[in-house]
Amino acid sequence: MAVTILDTPCPVCGEKKLEYRVERLDIPHFGETLQTTLMCQGCDYKTTDTLIVSQKEPTRYEIFVDSEDDMMVRVIRSTSGTIKFPDLGITVEPTPLSESFISNVEGVLNRVKDVLMQAIDGADTESQKLLGKRLAETIELVRNGKQPTTFILDDPFGNSAIVSEKVKKRLLTEEEVRELKIGMFVLEK
Ligand SMILES: [Zn+2]
Repeated sequence: MAVTILDTPCPVCGEKKLEYRVERLDIPHFGETLQTTLMCQGCDYKTTDTLIVSQKEPTRYEIFVDSEDDMMVRVIRSTSGTIKFPDLGITVEPTPLSESFISNVEGVLNRVKDVLMQAIDGADTESQKLLGKRLAETIELVRNGKQPTTFILDDPFGNSAIVSEKVKKRLLTEEEVRELKIGMFVLEK
């Protein structure tokens, strides 16, 4: 692991205590990735990214999850990855503030549920709240292996992955790539 102290002030506290780490991770069935972490020794500021060394083509990973064991399947979502649970009507697109993460299917469902709970709190109508609560219950069933569902992870830069022998992997078509957001600021004229 390489650690570098940057001669750049922290964007949050302004102190020159930014530490940059690059770590190699060798993931079974998947290959080599680099995890980069930028963290401040003076405050809580931290940001991570995961770069896949070997894959660069636009890729879709798809897995049918139908057991509690499937919850432990490893998921790497880079800042450009789009998460989809088509059976549940859920799509989580990257935003410019998206962070990459290495987690598992359960961790992904927890993140989706957190976002959903915020949406329920902010919902305008009772029927929206009810719809949100039903979806939260369904997510809970998936988490317990009681509701089978399809989980898709698309990445136009091939930097995201689902790591499992059950997974189906294919290249995205040009049209599919065009429909994806990439989590970057796009300046329009
Ligand atoms: Zn700081």
